[in-house]
Amino acid sequence: MVIVNEKICDLCGTCVAVCPVDCIELTEFDLIINDEICIRCNICIKMCPFAALTSKTSEV
Ligand code: SF4
Ligand code: SF4
Repeated sequence: MVIVNEKICDLCGTCVAVCPVDCIELTEFDLIINDEICIRCNICIKMCPFAALTSKTSEV
């Protein structure tokens, strides 16, 4: 799943625009990533200008 570091995120909306399945929602105060829709393409992680997104595997 994709994790957002809210201390770094500028709420710029770039990740929302690049997500191919529209699973990122930007509100006035935070970013919500719907992990059930996310296809783990990692485009948002590459495109975030602030490197606020990281990927975390749920498998141990
Ligand atoms: S692209 Fe990065 S800084 Fe911009 S809203 Fe998404 S996570 Fe936040
Ligand atoms: S990894 Fe891909 S599908 Fe998942 S939130 Fe990022 S851009 Fe969207």
